[in-house]
Amino acid sequence: MEKLFSFVLGLVLGSFANVCIYRLPKGRSIVSPGSQCPACGHSIPWYDNIPLLSWLLLKGRCRFCHGEISWRYFLVELLTGILFLGLYLKCGFSWQFAALGVFVLSLVIVSFIDLDTFFIPDVIVLPGILLGLVGAVLIPGYFSEMDRLSRALYSLTGLFSGGGLLWLIAIFGRLAYKKDAMGGGDVKLLAMIGAYLGWKSVLITLFFAALLGSIISLVLIALKVKKMDDYIPFGPYLALGAVVALAWKGYTFYGFLIP
Ligand SMILES: [Zn+2]
Repeated sequence: MEKLFSFVLGLVLGSFANVCIYRLPKGRSIVSPGSQCPACGHSIPWYDNIPLLSWLLLKGRCRFCHGEISWRYFLVELLTGILFLGLYLKCGFSWQFAALGVFVLSLVIVSFIDLDTFFIPDVIVLPGILLGLVGAVLIPGYFSEMDRLSRALYSLTGLFSGGGLLWLIAIFGRLAYKKDAMGGGDVKLLAMIGAYLGWKSVLITLFFAALLGSIISLVLIALKVKKMDDYIPFGPYLALGAVVALAWKGYTFYGFLIP
């Protein structure tokens, strides 16, 4: 029952993530008005706004204008549901679940905004850096057995190693290629990931982000979805890497405990 509840909670928050992904880049309020059809702007009644089900029942179309409602709305809800279920299986309903829930929700929102606009909004990642740090300090057991001071240091070193590593890569990238390969948004995003997960997870995140980023980009180029010199946003890969690191949390990696 609790598993179902965590999944449904993720679906509802995924529905909220969709609103943020659509409205934040346009500078519009995420609170009011209520949900609207992206095609005709008609407000969507609650019974057409049930995560997953409404999209399926209406076959991805608006009840009023029959305009298409992208499958991405469905995907974002399902993805967030699965992430919250995974988080529940990992840490049960706890303060850690609450903190990491906010974290994965930010990852989802930031990834899809980056895919759409090549931009990572400060309004998500800057408060995220602070929340990660505060959560790590206040929640006992957040980094396994560490005491409060060690948790604060582990989160801070995560913040600065995450931000610092990408900042260096960005500087060298600019010198080597004479253009921006890495945006300031990516730097702040990895700083946020570091604040929430600590410095060891920053290394895991960066490794898997680069690996998955290269593999997926090559596949997209082979399938001719992307061209060789197309700009490929790195934020979604950092988010994927962070989910791998999150799954690893609490386990050892070559005898190296990931707190
Ligand atoms: Zn419509």
